[in-house]
Amino acid sequence: AHRGYWKTEGSAQNSIRSLVKADSIGVYGSEFDVWITANDKLIVNHDGHIGDLIIENSTAAQITACKLENGENVPTLEQYLDAAKKLKTRLVFELKSHKNKLQETKAVDMLLKMIKDKKLDKRVDYITFSLPAFVRLIQKAPKGTPVYYLNGDKHPEWRKRCHQLGLKANVWTVNEQKDLQWCIDQGFDFITTNEPVLLEQMLKK
Ligand code: MG
Repeated sequence: AHRGYWKTEGSAQNSIRSLVKADSIGVYGSEFDVWITANDKLIVNHDGHIGDLIIENSTAAQITACKLENGENVPTLEQYLDAAKKLKTRLVFELKSHKNKLQETKAVDMLLKMIKDKKLDKRVDYITFSLPAFVRLIQKAPKGTPVYYLNGDKHPEWRKRCHQLGLKANVWTVNEQKDLQWCIDQGFDFITTNEPVLLEQMLKK
């Protein structure tokens, strides 16, 4: 479920509610996006800014004072993970690509520690568009932790090559029924969608 299951009443993208909702429909995993603030706090949000506030340049207090569309405050990663601990779904953890690569590196180290402290190591798949973050996640995450690099969207033929190499392939963000069917037929391992209920129905068929 891309940014959680948010196309449902009372939910919003990357809200804690969207995580609870994704869990309630039995998806493989609930995806969410993480940034580090200027004062070294990890928070959950998709865009790099909220209104005029650029997350990388703002404090956590400024960011978490902002409201999501469902009235929740923007969650910290810690709040999000505490909610996840009570649930079963896998956590598809996207670390966003930061302008400040030193901060991004710090974010990798902090998030790995937090996941470990909360004993969620075995429930997390990491994804990122940032090559340096990807490399560091592979180096520092516990052995066997799935880490996926988001690239190759102009190369659907890479799916085959990945499988030849024993790698898994994820496709995003697929929302139309005919496109979902194409991905199913192609044999992608993961399909990231804003329409998880539709996809589940299709997979059951
Ligand atoms: Mg994402």
